[in-house]
Amino acid sequence: AMRSAARFELLLAAGSLALALLLGGATGHYPASLLVLTLLYACRHVYHLLRLTYRLARHHRFNAPYPRGAWGEVYQAIAQYQQRTRKRKKRQVRFASRFREAALSVPDALVIMDKNQTVEWANPAAASLLNIQWPRDDGKNLTGLVQQPGLDDIIEAADYARPIDFSPNHNRALRLTVRVTPFGEKKRQRLLVGRDITKIHALNTIRRDFVANASHELRTPLTVIMGFVENLLHNAATPAAHRRPLNLMQSQALRMRTIIDDLLTLSRLEMDDKPDVVQPVDVPEVIRSVLHEAASIAAGKYRIESDIDEELFVLGNEKELHSAFSNLVLNALKHTPERTRISVRWAEHPQGLHFTVQDTGGGIAAEHLPRLTERFYRVDKARSRASGGTGLGLAIVKHVLNRHEAELLISSRIGHGSTFVCRFPDELALSRRQLRHADGAPTASPSVTEGKPHRTAAAR
Ligand code: ADP
Repeated sequence: AMRSAARFELLLAAGSLALALLLGGATGHYPASLLVLTLLYACRHVYHLLRLTYRLARHHRFNAPYPRGAWGEVYQAIAQYQQRTRKRKKRQVRFASRFREAALSVPDALVIMDKNQTVEWANPAAASLLNIQWPRDDGKNLTGLVQQPGLDDIIEAADYARPIDFSPNHNRALRLTVRVTPFGEKKRQRLLVGRDITKIHALNTIRRDFVANASHELRTPLTVIMGFVENLLHNAATPAAHRRPLNLMQSQALRMRTIIDDLLTLSRLEMDDKPDVVQPVDVPEVIRSVLHEAASIAAGKYRIESDIDEELFVLGNEKELHSAFSNLVLNALKHTPERTRISVRWAEHPQGLHFTVQDTGGGIAAEHLPRLTERFYRVDKARSRASGGTGLGLAIVKHVLNRHEAELLISSRIGHGSTFVCRFPDELALSRRQLRHADGAPTASPSVTEGKPHRTAAAR
């Protein structure tokens, strides 16, 4: 097309020149003829130039038919360009309206905030779930509208993985989980997503209460049965033939009570997210008592080593921590063959405070690792039962650690043994020395609710 346009322009110029010469030959006025034809030739260009300027200025649509030659090319190129832009704009409008429609129809509350945490936009679900109405609440501060302790921190952190659950003030029957993520250019705005979890929450409560009540109701009759069995066993009149079944009844009843007690412990741990008593805990002392307990069970058949930072205390609940640590150490005894080496360590690491139980036992296959902390999950049901396991131990450990903002890290290789690490955040660290300076007696320190004890620096 370009070439044909060039050819046309050339032909036109040559034709004009030839016509000028012809006209000059006929009239004898060569310069005048040349001038006339040059003017005519120039007029054509000026005409098209003006037409183009006019159309561009008025945003006219360029369409066929196009004049021939270079001008036609120019018109056509502009027409194509216009068409592309029109299409793109149409697509953008369609896109935007589709996104708006999506945002309007999701059942989750969506709120966009600017960097000062003021509301810029909210969808209709935000009205029913959070009582934020847009545009009524445009420009208002979000934490003023939704008065909820902890919401500030969540917005500040903008960590989608860290939700906050609460019942909003305007409708206490609702239960929401709210997440915040960075939004917009430079990610300084915030997008808040609130989801209605009322049903799940109610079901969870029912399940929790059911387990707690059922365990509680079972405990009393079991105690009665155990009492009678015990009496019969101690009664000289009991026939010798009954002793074996009675012994079995007693050990099975004991097992049952262990399971019930573990279930009760778990539901108690589930009742709220934080332990009721939080104090500086003398972890070295707790570990010593766990090791003492373990040594009597191991009865010399295992090699237990320990390496404990005597200065390192944490802020937490002593009873719960004792239960978690003891579960891990006793697991290493229960689930490994005799003569296994078990090492127990307590130390400050760059990534937190680590309580580590490592064994050189048979290890656990990788596919089981993610499920170990589920209730009643056991790699080998029969073996675990035989060793007195309930399948609830690691679930308890996980719950206790959750309540201490700590986490359980499990690594294991078949044939090489397993490592269980309880990792506590640095902020929970306290040192024995500082506690002694604070009030003389580290074990009798006041609860944190009364006065905050000194904390160690992140790394000593
Ligand atoms: P249990 O009451 O059976 O010990 P847990 O919840 O404490 O229940 O542990 C779950 C399962 O994890 C155990 O049944 C066992 O199969 C496996 N397990 C736990 N600790 C170890 C370990 N140190 N070595 C090998 N397997 C382990």
